[in-house]
Amino acid sequence: MVPDFRYFLNLIPCRTACPVRTNAGGYVRTVAEGDTERGYRIARAPNPLASICGRICAHPCESNCRRGVIDQPISIRALKRTLTERHGVENTLGDQPAPLKPLPLAVGGPQGAPRAAIVGAGPAGLSCAHDLALLGYRVTLFEAAPVVGGMLYQGVPEYRLSRDLIRAEVDQILSLGVELKLEWRLGRDFTVGDLRRNGYAAVFLALGASRGRDLDIPGKDLDGVINGVDFLLNANLGYRVALGERVLVIGGGNVAIDVARTALRYAASHDSGQLPGGAEQLLQTWGYDNAFIDAARTALRLGARHVQLVSLESRPQMPAHPDEVREAEEEGITLLPGRGPKAILAKNGRVAGLETLEVESLFDASGRFNPTFVRGSEQRTEADTIILAVGQQPDTECLAADREIEITPRGLVAVDARTLATTMPGVYCGGDLAFGPRIVIEAEADGKRAALAIHESLGGGTVPRVRARFRPVELRRAGDRYDRIPRQPIPTVPVARRTGFREVEDGYSDEQARLEASRCLWCNVETIFDSERCILCSGCVEICPEACLALVPASRLHSSAAIDAVSDALDVGAEAGAIVKDEARCIRCGLCAERCPTGAITMEALEIDESPQTALGLYHEDMNEVRP
Ligand SMILES: Cc1cc2nc3c(=O)[nH]c(=O)nc-3n(C[C@H](O)[C@H](O)[C@H](O)COP(=O)(O)OP(=O)(O)OC[C@H]3O[C@@H](n4cnc5c(N)ncnc54)[C@H](O)[C@@H]3O)c2cc1C
Ligand code: SF4
Ligand code: SF4
Repeated sequence: MVPDFRYFLNLIPCRTACPVRTNAGGYVRTVAEGDTERGYRIARAPNPLASICGRICAHPCESNCRRGVIDQPISIRALKRTLTERHGVENTLGDQPAPLKPLPLAVGGPQGAPRAAIVGAGPAGLSCAHDLALLGYRVTLFEAAPVVGGMLYQGVPEYRLSRDLIRAEVDQILSLGVELKLEWRLGRDFTVGDLRRNGYAAVFLALGASRGRDLDIPGKDLDGVINGVDFLLNANLGYRVALGERVLVIGGGNVAIDVARTALRYAASHDSGQLPGGAEQLLQTWGYDNAFIDAARTALRLGARHVQLVSLESRPQMPAHPDEVREAEEEGITLLPGRGPKAILAKNGRVAGLETLEVESLFDASGRFNPTFVRGSEQRTEADTIILAVGQQPDTECLAADREIEITPRGLVAVDARTLATTMPGVYCGGDLAFGPRIVIEAEADGKRAALAIHESLGGGTVPRVRARFRPVELRRAGDRYDRIPRQPIPTVPVARRTGFREVEDGYSDEQARLEASRCLWCNVETIFDSERCILCSGCVEICPEACLALVPASRLHSSAAIDAVSDALDVGAEAGAIVKDEARCIRCGLCAERCPTGAITMEALEIDESPQTALGLYHEDMNEVRP
């Protein structure tokens, strides 16, 4: 057993912040050491969409990275891309992706393993399919659209995520034996009850949140007002959208930025004769004739030349990622921050512009979002098209026939927080449909959690529990100045070459990746203190370059159950000394251990088994057994 496993786990923020508990620090370190193949296996084990996440993950790991306390966080997402580019489904070195083997754990009846139905092939549905297939179930994936990937395909623009990459990663999941039924729409072609009656032992609902929110202002129903998610969906599937020359996007989040940058590319892709979203290939795959493709091309001629973005928030307050905002500006999109829409203006029954007001404040005294505006600050901006990108919500009408499934007052499917079970027996739900719009990796985590809950509810075998141990490590760090290396910028294509829908971001070179990875603070390496050997000499306190150690009388410690337990166990009184450590600032340099004259401090790495099997177990919220 590793004592206080949870305590030590919580000292690795990149790992605990990741909804699927990826050992990000572990794979970052492999990049620094040049062992990218092992790094890929670590990154892929808990994440069926590792290559996609290397491009577009909203990276909670990075936002919580401890290096950010010192200067800037490690570029964890970009380093994941480094690994998948070399060994993942898109690898450029000719390696084969790590093979996936189903775990023979499912309880089989006379007809073999139980069947599970998943409805919706976005990140939540795909991850659930992946894990259930690995556990040995027979899985069928029902999807309303003619493409797989959910918002990855229908929402995220191609200049951020290549369609070939989505197909490759989806194909790898399907290769586990998952049956795919495209253009099967729940509520139109079948009900959840039908699935249960037809022998599916469990159903996972993952329909996402694709209905755009409306704005309640005059003119919202005019011709020329379109919804942001609908626009992206049409753009990504190659359908015709006439935008006109001047487009105004309303919204300050990431989706609004995606909409604005896509609208701009509509015009640019006309100049290059390229259809957006890989649409030409897609349309040919589906058997559309050239006339249809020509019609879509014609739509490009109607693309926008001037795109402006109106947001309630000031520029620093915008919820969109700052890098995305900067790139949008570089590409020529004009921001109109700190303004709220008052009315959509009309001419001949069509959109002619937008009247806005200056925002006075966004939140009321109780901190609730409740914008107020400066009286008399009206301003008019001309536009041919107005695109609303002010949020999404699930569409639960397709569940109307399945009355047993409870819908919350917020319009989400009600689920048990631990198992994601709905109020209908055998039916589970996750992703944006259960929690509202979130991010890809959270949807994936839901899919994995539901797979495990389904497995347990069907009386499946035990998923192997986590194995962990401490291993003493070599002190490496004196003199290599890893704490001084600045964050390496992620390479992007120059603005002048951002034509059509080509990817804007590039991967790191080997050298850039190695430098960036070597900035990692090794949060899984702990300073382990042996109180029996410590002579309270203060040597460690004096040498620590970060001043994160202090030697204090035990009487100065705030009393707590944990401290009392330690005092009792060691049988020390209030006159004893204690070493207090600020874990957040420790850079794991090991100088304290090196200086200690009695060997009372050792640097030890917490190592957790990273196989796909234990990755399933690690995600188990009730994880309580840690074997050495
Ligand atoms: C424009 C945009 C950009 C985004 N960018 C990012 C990003 O960069 N990083 C990030 O982490 N997150 C991003 N997100 C959020 C992320 O895409 C979602 O949180 C995630 O896709 C949700 O996954 P999901 O599986 O719950 O639903 P979805 O991905 O929405 O998938 C739901 C699937 O269900 C299908 N479906 C719907 N109704 C039915 C029905 N009746 N019958 C059968 N199938 C049905 C849909 O066609 C779809 O394929 C973005 C979202 C949008 C809209
Ligand atoms: S410094 Fe390294 S181990 Fe620590 S949180 Fe950042 S990436 Fe993870
Ligand atoms: S490893 Fe020891 S000396 Fe180095 S920063 Fe951490 S506590 Fe200080």
